[in-house]
Amino acid sequence: MSDCIFCKIAQHEIPSTVVYEDDLVIAFDDLNPQAPVHTLVIPKAHYDSIVDGVPGDVLAAMAHAIGEVARVKGLDAGFRVITNTGADAGQTVMHFHMHVLGGKMLGEGLI
Ligand code: AMP
Ligand code: ZN
Repeated sequence: MSDCIFCKIAQHEIPSTVVYEDDLVIAFDDLNPQAPVHTLVIPKAHYDSIVDGVPGDVLAAMAHAIGEVARVKGLDAGFRVITNTGADAGQTVMHFHMHVLGGKMLGEGLI
């Protein structure tokens, strides 16, 4: 999608701090981190959200990438994965992404 900022990051058309990359997905640090570690995992192909018909191999690649982010960032003590979907969840970038948050005690509450 030509006007999508995450498509541009996936194609290396705009810079990002890449943590992990393979054929299907790329993981990069969030520009406005909400925790000591805040990395986004996205499919390279454009899907609006997790409910936009994302193929199983892409979802599997994202799960693998989350593990790689945790390994690279040293999140041995745990981390949280969040996927905002739609207006009520506050999704601001309409390219499916998973937030990987960690590096501190996040607590027991979901939000
Ligand atoms: P969401 O609110 O779930 O749609 O999350 C979008 C996230 O993308 C926010 O945490 C932003 O800080 C992040 N973000 C937006 N533009 C960029 C960018 N160019 N590089 C890295 N992160 C970005
Ligand atoms: Zn996109």
